[in-house]
Amino acid sequence: RSKNDGRSVFRFFEPDMDARLQARRTMELDLRHALKAEEFELHYQPLVDLESGKVCAFEALLRWHHPTRGLVSPAEFIPLCEEIGLIIDIGAWVLEEACREAVHWPEEVKVAINLSPVQFRNNRVVGAVAHALASSGIAPERVELEITESVLLQDSETNVEALRDLKDLGIQIAMDDFGTGYSSLSYLQKFPFDKIKIDQSFVRTLAERPEASAIVRALTGLGRSLSIATTAEGVETEEQLEHLRSEGCTQVQGYLFSRPLPAGDVAEILKRVFHRAEAPPDENEARG
Ligand code: C2E
Ligand code: MG
Ligand code: MG
Ligand code: MG
Repeated sequence: RSKNDGRSVFRFFEPDMDARLQARRTMELDLRHALKAEEFELHYQPLVDLESGKVCAFEALLRWHHPTRGLVSPAEFIPLCEEIGLIIDIGAWVLEEACREAVHWPEEVKVAINLSPVQFRNNRVVGAVAHALASSGIAPERVELEITESVLLQDSETNVEALRDLKDLGIQIAMDDFGTGYSSLSYLQKFPFDKIKIDQSFVRTLAERPEASAIVRALTGLGRSLSIATTAEGVETEEQLEHLRSEGCTQVQGYLFSRPLPAGDVAEILKRVFHRAEAPPDENEARG
C-alpha cells in the first residue's frame, strides 16, 4: 500500500491504481448491500462518572461484519458511506438500534450516538432522531448526540437551526473530538453544547507533552466555566486517569475501563463500580 503514497511514482503503478479503484467500487457495492444483509452491529463503550465511579452512559460504535473480510473498522468505511450518501440510511439505522437497545438499560444510564455531518444535509436528521425516540419510547433526556466541529463549519446557519430543533426534542448534544478542529472555541458560542469530549490525541500525550497537559487543563476549565460536562476519550492508563481527575474532568472513557462490547455485555459492565475512578488506589493495588 505504501508504495502508492508517493504521488510522483503514481503513474508508474496504474494497475495498482486500478486495483484500488476496483477495491473501492467493491466496498461500495458491499456497503450498499450491508444494511439489508444485517451485517452492521453496534458495540457499546461505557462512559464513567469520575465522582461516583459508575457508568453514566454507553457510546454506540458501529461495527461492520463483512462476510469475507471479517470485522471492518468504521474509520475504513464511514468516510466512503459519507461520500456516497449512504450514511443517511446507516445513521438512521444506528439511531433506531441504539435507542431500541438503551430503553432496556437503567434509567440513569444514557446512550451516546455519533452523527455524521452528512446527516445534517436537508435537515433530515431531526426527523430521523424524532422517529427513533418515538419508535423506541426512550426518554429524550437519555439520548446524547455526538457531533464534530465540522457540523458547524459548513452551512452553519441551517445546521445550528437543526441542532436547536434537536435540543427542542429534549436530547443532549455533545461536541466530539474537541480541540482537533480549526477554531473550536468559536463553535461553543454558536451553539450551547451540553458536553465537551476531549479528543484522545490530547489524552494519549498527557505524560510526554506539556502542551497536551495545558490543553486538557484549559478544556476542563472551560467545561467548569460553562457548567457543562467534560469527557476525556481514550483513557488507557492509571496515570492518565489520575491526571484527568486532578484537572477536574467529569467523565472518562477508554480501554482502561472497557473496550466497546456487544449489547449483550452491557448488563455485566453495569454491575461494576469502577473503584479505581472513585478513589485513588494505593500503590500496591495500582501495580497489580
Ligand atoms: P469517536 O466517536 O471519537 O469514538 C471513539 C473511538 O475511540 C472509537 O473508535 C473507540 O473504539 C476508540 N477508543 C475508545 N477508547 C479507546 C482507548 O482507550 N484507546 C484507543 N486507542 N481508542 C479508543 P471506533 O469505534 O473505531 O470509531 C471510530 C470513529 O468512527 C468514531 O470516533 C466516530 O467518529 C466514527 N463512528 C463510529 N460509529 C459511528 C456511527 O454510528 N456513526 C457515525 N457517523 N460515526 C461513527
Ligand atoms: Mg463519539
Ligand atoms: Mg471522539
Ligand atoms: Mg474520534
